[in-house]
Amino acid sequence: MIIVLKNGTPQEEINKIAGWLSRYNVEVNKIVGSNATVLGIVGDTSAVDTNSAYLSEHVEKIMKVQEPYKRVNRKMHPEDSIIDVGGVKIGGKNLIIMAGPCSVEGEDQIVEIAKNVKASGASIIRGGAWKPRSSPYSFQGLKAEGLDLLNIAKAETGLPIVTEITNPMHINQFMGKVDCFQVGARNMQNFELLMELGKTKVPVLLKRGFSNTLEEFLMSAEYIMSGGNENVILCERGIRTCETFTRNTLDISAIPALKKLSHLPVIVDPSHASGKAWMVESLSMASIAAGADGLLIEVHNDPINALSDGAQSLTYEMFEETMKKLKGIAKIVGREL
Ligand code: PEP
Ligand code: MN
Repeated sequence: MIIVLKNGTPQEEINKIAGWLSRYNVEVNKIVGSNATVLGIVGDTSAVDTNSAYLSEHVEKIMKVQEPYKRVNRKMHPEDSIIDVGGVKIGGKNLIIMAGPCSVEGEDQIVEIAKNVKASGASIIRGGAWKPRSSPYSFQGLKAEGLDLLNIAKAETGLPIVTEITNPMHINQFMGKVDCFQVGARNMQNFELLMELGKTKVPVLLKRGFSNTLEEFLMSAEYIMSGGNENVILCERGIRTCETFTRNTLDISAIPALKKLSHLPVIVDPSHASGKAWMVESLSMASIAAGADGLLIEVHNDPINALSDGAQSLTYEMFEETMKKLKGIAKIVGREL
C-alpha cells in the first residue's frame, strides 16, 4: 500500500501516522521525494483502516500495490534510485560503462585492460574470477587469485570492481574486495544466494535469467531488497527466443518496461546478448537510446585467444570507437557520458 501525503505535512504528523501504521504489524518506509512524502507499507495491509482520522487530514491519496514486488516497485519510490558503486553513481543523468574481460586471466592482462578501458571512458572494471561455464571442461576462472588481481587493477586505475559471485559461502571472501557483486543469469533464481546478498549493503548487479519474465526478474531483486540491501542494479543480458543467429536476443523492450515498473537502474549487456563483437556497438547505441542507465561491455587485450567469450569481446580500438559513438547518442538523449 502507498500513502501519498499532502505537500507540507509537518514532520511530527508524518511520524505520528507512521507510528499508527506500525501497530498493524506492517513495515513502513518513508520516502521523501522532491514533490511529496510517500509512505510505502509492506506486509499484510488488509486490516489497515484507510478511513481513520489519522489519515484523512494529511493524505493526498492511498493506492494498493497489486504487483507482487513491492520494494522494487516504482509506485513505492517514484524517483529513480541512484546506487553508489565505489564512488561511481549509477542511475540518474549519468551513463556508466562497466568494461573488462569475461575472465581475469593474469595480472598484466587485467591491469592493461583496466588502463585501456578507463582511457576510453569506462568507469568500472568488470572481470570474472569465478566463472560459471556451461561445460565443466572449460576454464573455470582464477577464483581467489582473480579477485586479488582485480584489486591490483583497481589500485593502478582507481576503477571500482564488479565481479560475479556464484556461491553464498563465498560472500565473506568477497567482502572488502568488491565494490559490486554480479549475480549471473544462471543464478538469478538462486534464492539462497540472493537472500545472503540481501544481508550485506554491497551493491548487486542482478542479471536477468535467459528464460525469465520481467516479473520473475523483479521478484529476484525483491529478494535482495527484502533482506535489507537496497543497492540493486538490474541488468538485461538477452533472452532465449526462436532466433539462433545471435547467442541470445537482446530484449530492448525490457529497458522501458523495467524503468516504468521499477525505480532501480537498468544496465544492458550487449556482449552476452549478441555473442558477436561486431554487433556490440549497434546494440549499445540502441540500449542508450532506449533509456538504459549504462552498459556492461566485454573488452579483451587479445580476443582470439581469450579463455572465455572471445567472440563477443571488443578490442581496445573497437571499444574506443564504440565509446565515441555512445557519447553522441548520450547527447541526443540528454544523458552525460
Ligand atoms: C558474464 O557476465 O561473464 C556472464 C557469465 O554473464 P551471464 O550470467 O549473463 O551469462
Ligand atoms: Mn562472459
